[in-house]
Amino acid sequence: MGKCVVKECDSRSQKHNKSSGITFHTVPKDTVRRKKWVEIIRLLRKETDWVPSKSTLICSKHFRDQDKLGPKSDCGRVYLSNEAIPILVISKDLIRMNLILKSRRNF
Ligand SMILES: [Zn+2]
Repeated sequence: MGKCVVKECDSRSQKHNKSSGITFHTVPKDTVRRKKWVEIIRLLRKETDWVPSKSTLICSKHFRDQDKLGPKSDCGRVYLSNEAIPILVISKDLIRMNLILKSRRNF
């Protein structure tokens, strides 16, 4: 049982059912990808010192469709592509944070 790491997001793994199309994903172990995920999740949570734990889950709402791999059948598991990083599109507030993130990349 777990909850999506994004506070504003109401996805919970116990609510997860196959018809909802929502899947839960753990933070990647790969150092480079992990850093990117942590950076985004910190923005989503508005916590600059957040660190992932073994039980950290993020739901599939935070990924683009093109980053999702795998069957959409009832028994199929959705995987994320190796390039997939979370996006910030759940609310207007989060979109604004995405713009902040983009402007930070200019440094
Ligand atoms: Zn979520």
